[in-house]
Amino acid sequence: MTSPDYAVFGHPISHSLSPRIHAAFGKQAGIALNYIAIDVPAESFAASLARFANESGRGANVTLPLKQDAFRFSADVSDFARRAGAVNTLTRVDSTWRGDNTDGAGLIRDLTGRHGLDLRARRTLLLGAGGAARAAAHALLDAGIGELVIVNRSPERADALADSIGLPKRVHTRYWNDLADLGSFDLIVNATSAGVARETLALPFGLVAPRALCYDLSYGVAAFGFVAWARAAGAGKALDGLGMLVEQAAESFAIWHGTRPDTDPVHDQLRGELPLLATD
Ligand code: NDP
Repeated sequence: MTSPDYAVFGHPISHSLSPRIHAAFGKQAGIALNYIAIDVPAESFAASLARFANESGRGANVTLPLKQDAFRFSADVSDFARRAGAVNTLTRVDSTWRGDNTDGAGLIRDLTGRHGLDLRARRTLLLGAGGAARAAAHALLDAGIGELVIVNRSPERADALADSIGLPKRVHTRYWNDLADLGSFDLIVNATSAGVARETLALPFGLVAPRALCYDLSYGVAAFGFVAWARAAGAGKALDGLGMLVEQAAESFAIWHGTRPDTDPVHDQLRGELPLLATD
């Protein structure tokens, strides 16, 4: 067995679809690669990453809870990674790591490319203020949404995100307990990890404007509750984050290999295994 040249680091990581996705992209592009999942807690990440580089590591994806550490370990970061304050893609350059963040581009590619949606001027509610929410906020603002309201269980994290964005006329924060008083939104993005923890969000139906788009960054069973809520509230479209997952992987693949794979066959294969709802 040859040493791995690509990997995804996280903790836990056994559930990750990234090795399958990158293997499929590699096959499609005729590029032989050995991409594995490495389970490592934050305290061992630096040592594990150094070992990976010494063996033959050329690129790494990074997921929960290591994205901020990956940012610190990067000698150079892209403008978007700097704004998001997190790195999900590391590339070996000389004997250092360059950090990128492809989550934001993955989200926008899924929404505008795969689903053909126009995001411009949409009044948007972002639930959550963790790493994925940060990337989503910047990417959605870059894509031209209208007002952005950020609501997080811990309000100080929402305030910190809004402050770091620095667009006080366009970006506001509100308390979770005030959700029923916020009016309706054309786009609602669930960037909380509640679904992954099998917790249910109690969200008022009044948040959903007619023909609104509701998007959960998590996918599969973890998104069932939000997608079911959005449909019951009359959303025009309710989606999970499977498409974003495949698109952010394609962005990483393009950074490493200089060619962007065709994501549709890989997405469609996985969608067949992970329906949007148990009844689909
Ligand atoms: P973080 O741990 O950084 O943030 C978690 C967020 O969820 C925080 O805002 C937290 O609030 C909130 N939260 C957790 N539980 C609850 C709850 N019961 N009620 C309300 N809010 C809650 O995680 P990430 O930002 O990295 O990831 C968030 C989600 O996005 C995950 O489900 C992850 O799988 C998904 N994701 C999907 C990607 C894709 O490609 N599709 C890419 C990246 C992430 P608080 O601050 O109060 O703790």
